[in-house]
Amino acid sequence: MNQLVILAGGMGTRLRARLGDLPKPMIPFAGRPLLELQVELARQHGFDDIIIFACHRAEVIEQHFGNGSAFGVRLRTVVEREPLGTAGAVLAAMDLLADRFVVMYGDTMVNVDLGRLARTHMAAGADATLLVHPNDHPLDSDLIEVDGRDWVTAFHNRPHPADRWFQNLVNAGLYVLEKAALRAWAPPARALDFGKDLFPAMLAKGARLLAYTSPEYIKDIGTPERYDKIQAELASGVVARNSLSTPQRAVFLDRDGTLIEERDGLRRPDELVLLPGAAAAVRELNHHGWRVVVVTNQPVIAKGFCTEAELAVIHHKMETLLGREHAFVDRIYYCPHHPHKGYPGERSELKIDCECRKPKAGMLLRAAAELQIDLTASWMVGDTTIDLETARAAGVRGVLVRTGHGGRDGRHPDAPGHTVENVRDAVAYILAPTGL
Ligand SMILES: [Zn+2]
Repeated sequence: MNQLVILAGGMGTRLRARLGDLPKPMIPFAGRPLLELQVELARQHGFDDIIIFACHRAEVIEQHFGNGSAFGVRLRTVVEREPLGTAGAVLAAMDLLADRFVVMYGDTMVNVDLGRLARTHMAAGADATLLVHPNDHPLDSDLIEVDGRDWVTAFHNRPHPADRWFQNLVNAGLYVLEKAALRAWAPPARALDFGKDLFPAMLAKGARLLAYTSPEYIKDIGTPERYDKIQAELASGVVARNSLSTPQRAVFLDRDGTLIEERDGLRRPDELVLLPGAAAAVRELNHHGWRVVVVTNQPVIAKGFCTEAELAVIHHKMETLLGREHAFVDRIYYCPHHPHKGYPGERSELKIDCECRKPKAGMLLRAAAELQIDLTASWMVGDTTIDLETARAAGVRGVLVRTGHGGRDGRHPDAPGHTVENVRDAVAYILAPTGL
């Protein structure tokens, strides 16, 4: 696969003061048009067949790129005669499309490994793959629901009902598409948007849509404030650092007794209460560019007290409550196992001596591999000596909080770790210059 489609038809009305007469995707970053940065990223990842769908002031784009040879790619600019929506523009030009291609929006700053995205799409056999991520304002974002294997099961467009819990997963606007899966909608009978129209319609017809969750950098420049912020992040190296090839610092957070109130075997969403300061602590880590990863033992699954689907709703509630305070976790890992067999109602296949149950390091090692985490630069925060022992096993530094069990579990009295009052103080300690 080597074709990239860039949707560059945006008007950029809100950016008019910064754009002057330029079409939105030609907005400059450090003296270079955004579209040129996208073409360069594509070429670096082996995508050298590029189609740009342009509309407003398309001639500026045509003149800048020509046939792409000056940029090391084969490039065509397609001028839209009428606004057909993001998906409509693509569906109206099926003849130009390869059997499989990547779609990017021309108003996003992107630092994504396009090859890895494409390989994941192909390995899964998806009809479409959507790059998704948590954000710090999920309540006013369109959200995606997935099953336990990352297949999209529903689209939830804003506004969201206050009495339902949602996973913090947002369509970032980067797709891999199978041309064959689009034929039923081509040519488009009306203007169609990918997120609001085409993907929900594909899902309703039984198409297999994969959610590819990634912490890589992808942000849209829609407003002057966002444009200024992204310029600053490009200049300071934040854009470059947020890739899957750069080792990341992470804070691993225990769940019960650390982020949320301790309940003995919590098994229903209504039992979940965030601890004071938990959202602020997570938000602080988000702001400082740390990965935030929850790692929790949930033997309630093995014991048959709670299903995976019920646990997912509990985690959706936690993500919704954090999202209300503009905080997000990058990923949640849980161990569903329990080592001791012989109880009524248990799920015997999960009653094993696994590698993920804390104090073993399995969940942290898996997160390190999936999110490119540098364990030597990372921390684990929890309310038990099991968490401190986990930190030691994984090679991260440990911090014990006095909330929840407050370290009184007595399981690993020798495990090393600094002690603070709560998760907020733990984050302050970690972010303080002496803690680095
Ligand atoms: Zn396990």
